[in-house]
Amino acid sequence: MRSHDRLRIAIQKSGRLSDPARDLLARAGLQFRESRDRLFCYGESLPIDLLLVRDDDIPGLIAEGVCDLGVVGQNVLEEQAAERLSQGLDAAFKVIKPLGFGRCRLSVAVPNEWDGADLSRLNGKRIATSYPNLLRQWIAEQKLDAEAVLLSGSVEIAPRLGKAEAICDLVSSGATLVANQLKEVAVILQSEAVLAGPAKPFGDERADLAAMLLRRLEGVLSLRASKLVLFQSRRALLPELMKLLPDAELPTVMSLEGRAEEVGVQVLCRSAMTWQRLEDMKRAGASNMLVLPVEQMLA
Ligand code: ATP
Ligand code: ZN
Repeated sequence: MRSHDRLRIAIQKSGRLSDPARDLLARAGLQFRESRDRLFCYGESLPIDLLLVRDDDIPGLIAEGVCDLGVVGQNVLEEQAAERLSQGLDAAFKVIKPLGFGRCRLSVAVPNEWDGADLSRLNGKRIATSYPNLLRQWIAEQKLDAEAVLLSGSVEIAPRLGKAEAICDLVSSGATLVANQLKEVAVILQSEAVLAGPAKPFGDERADLAAMLLRRLEGVLSLRASKLVLFQSRRALLPELMKLLPDAELPTVMSLEGRAEEVGVQVLCRSAMTWQRLEDMKRAGASNMLVLPVEQMLA
């Protein structure tokens, strides 16, 4: 039985989620001693250790209590929850916090030459996928009569190999689909990386460690969206301009050398600045706008 005064987080050993997961934990102040087998990394700054594994193993490791938390795609988590459900088991793990990276979607795609996007054309057809449980759920919801064919890799070439007529796979840019002469006809799931944990709360020291980690992650994530916005405007226009920045803190207003009517403004905005918002500000009289990322913050 492992001791419960340390928290153990599983992340992907190598793949799309490894670097962003490590980067996020590092920003939350976690430092690790790399071990030679690169499976287990001892936490040096806090009693929080890392387990480096295949992403597909993470939900099971949480369910078995081998690790306490994991960074994994919602796609993997929900597929395994659906699988457990089909076996009459409860999920045993849950999403604690979406992390804002690893965004993709699980989609059904068909050969380009199928005309239209009428889903009933999938009736009687085989759909190749690595996500059979989510696909079967979707087929049932859509009242289709299609067969999910399990393939572990290179799902996109299944139609050309004659193994299936359609596919259900992860898509981000869509370039892989285009390269394989496939087109997307339905999105089954929108996914991003999440912090996952057990369905039941920790009843020991791990609860405090997990709460602290979560607080720090929330800080890091909200900082990522925060922007420092600088602009100039006529002083009289400032109240109207601030109405366009409803999530902003109080602005610092500075005078501009030689321009009595005008001010330079510096303001922290808590959510993403969009081009649309900048254009609205321009129209309301702001000029020389700059949007800067925020590195660290201490109120
Ligand atoms: P492992 O060896 O750990 O099993 P893998 O091949 O299953 O690796 P990756 O290709 O690294 O995994 O993908 C990991 C996760 O990244 C996916 O489960 C998904 O959540 C996310 N992801 C984001 N965009 C994409 C994409 N375009 N294709 C595949 N996965 C993506
Ligand atoms: Zn995997």
